[in-house]
Amino acid sequence: MGRLVSAKDMLNKALAGHYGVAQININNLEWTKAVLTTSQELQAPVILGVSMGAAKYMTGYKTVTAMVEAMMESLDITVPVALHLDHGNYDAAVACIKSGFSSIMFDGSSLPFEENYAKTTALVNACDVLGLSLEAEVGSIGGEEDGIIGMGECADPEECAKIAALGVTMLAAGIGNIHGAYPENWAGLQFDVLEKIRAATGNVPLVLHGGTGIPDEQVKKAIGMGVSKINVNTECQWVFQEATRKYIEEGKDKVGKGFDPRKLLAPGYEAIKAKVKEKYEVFGSIGKA
Ligand SMILES: [Zn+2]
Repeated sequence: MGRLVSAKDMLNKALAGHYGVAQININNLEWTKAVLTTSQELQAPVILGVSMGAAKYMTGYKTVTAMVEAMMESLDITVPVALHLDHGNYDAAVACIKSGFSSIMFDGSSLPFEENYAKTTALVNACDVLGLSLEAEVGSIGGEEDGIIGMGECADPEECAKIAALGVTMLAAGIGNIHGAYPENWAGLQFDVLEKIRAATGNVPLVLHGGTGIPDEQVKKAIGMGVSKINVNTECQWVFQEATRKYIEEGKDKVGKGFDPRKLLAPGYEAIKAKVKEKYEVFGSIGKA
């Protein structure tokens, strides 16, 4: 591990200081550079999320680690940065441990609870030995694949307590949140469920997935109740798409060397930077590096 750090200290500080650390998912070099430079400029800690699909797109976990490590060195990024597997299965978790990731999410939420518990136990031990942080997930969080649901899914506080007691660094538990776009009839975050999970899990930082589309006030309230990490993915994709579309629709790619990918992707890059800054402002992580 070069400059990458585990997410443990940054999340425990966030929990104690009542602010949230952003997990921003990355997809390519431009995404990574936008997140790293913005974090450095604003002196904010950050967790770079990498899904199994994004890692495959970037040709593998080792490529991602090498790119992030080298970029941190060449840009002299000194704020705390964790490189985190997002929603990994067991094999992906093991692969990331071997590939230099500093943080792992093992998502066993779709497995029978006993199997989730056993696999999370094994990974807690492996991550402890290596000084990596581990996120576990209980129950399933609702999403587009579930069709039209207004509620999102909620985790069972008792199951949360059992997984938290294993010594995981952070815990993802559904409180009515949903991945991707929220349906019109969404009921909002279930703060009574969050309160029960908080009470059942002691001082484990909680993670809010599906951050895109939750009103800022609800996110802030959740942070005040013990949510320390908020995942942001879809929102950056939307602003990147919008900015890129605008550039092409305005015909700028046809002017001079506007076709140069370094110019073509620049508006999207700037849009990601602006969105990341906006998120840090809401989460309260600016200046917390
Ligand atoms: Zn998620």
